[in-house]
Amino acid sequence: MLRRDDVSAETWAIVGGRPLDVPGATLNTPLIAASNFVLGGERIYSRNEATEAWESLEALIGGMEHGHGVAFASGMAACAAVLSQLPTGAHLVLGDDCYQGVAGLADAGARDHGWRVDRLPASDPAWLGKAAEADLLWVESPSNPLLDVADVAAICAAPRRPGTRVVVDNTFATPLGQQPLTLGADIVVHSATKFIGGHSDLLLGLAVAADPAQATLLRTARQLNGATPGTLECFLALRGARTLPLRLRQAEASARVLVERLGGHPAVGRVRYPGFGAIVSFELADAPAADVACRATRIVRHATSLGGVETTMERRGVHVGQEHIPAGLIRMSVGCEDAEDLWADLGAALDQLQ
Ligand code: PLP
Repeated sequence: MLRRDDVSAETWAIVGGRPLDVPGATLNTPLIAASNFVLGGERIYSRNEATEAWESLEALIGGMEHGHGVAFASGMAACAAVLSQLPTGAHLVLGDDCYQGVAGLADAGARDHGWRVDRLPASDPAWLGKAAEADLLWVESPSNPLLDVADVAAICAAPRRPGTRVVVDNTFATPLGQQPLTLGADIVVHSATKFIGGHSDLLLGLAVAADPAQATLLRTARQLNGATPGTLECFLALRGARTLPLRLRQAEASARVLVERLGGHPAVGRVRYPGFGAIVSFELADAPAADVACRATRIVRHATSLGGVETTMERRGVHVGQEHIPAGLIRMSVGCEDAEDLWADLGAALDQLQ
């Protein structure tokens, strides 16, 4: 049987998480809708024992990340399960520009469980010093939406107390952009709703743990909290993940074209791009200018989520918890359309601001 270490992450996206290679077996994991099973076998009830689709997705993404995958009903469910392990009075270090849902969980922990929460820019070297005193370092890199990049390897290598964990939200980078467990992180989380699913038609999350015992704890949290992923969602995410390398290659190539053209447009201020991936943030003069641009495009869709085959953008300042970002900042998720078509559409919208 092919092992993960035999192949690249790109190849694993195709070959990982398949049914056994035996005569007559389906090539793909079949979609089996079932909550209940005849007693006496391996499976009893679908909140507790994985259906085939979870198992395949966990093997696929867990393998790409070089760890043990645990699928959840959403990215937030995965994040909540990881954070729920923190005891009362714990010390959490979090990016100052992380996904606002995770910041909300940290605020709730501070309020309800006395957590001490420090917020730092992802690229701040102060993370290294925090490693020695914190219980958990939650690194989101690139950050959302300022696309600040953390030195994940250096943070993981910094001296830390036994039991201090490094968690990396790898949603923006995807398992192709970086594999934090190979850099020394303990857990990776994903909103599989985004690039892994890739088609804006599902909600799903994954946590991938380096240590199998940690994965077991996360499975128990999932079961007790009922944060169970739907079988259909796992099936769709599995199918979506097969084309992640292709989609990302196309999107990244287009993102580079758009970054260059945006940089040369007189209506555009600072353009942020971490040098890889398919998310680009750029600044227009103010919130009204950004709102005009977002409504004026015909190919680029005005929508909040990201990582789909379709290019989307929105002014991030419309959301609560984004008060730290420039008012006219637009976050764009570049999809798989032709780059010249995308620029014709986006450029025409920006020309209206002149
Ligand atoms: N992490 C990041 C970086 C995100 O952007 C999101 C959602 O936008 C989440 C976590 C939460 O994922 P979900 O929406 O699948 O619950």
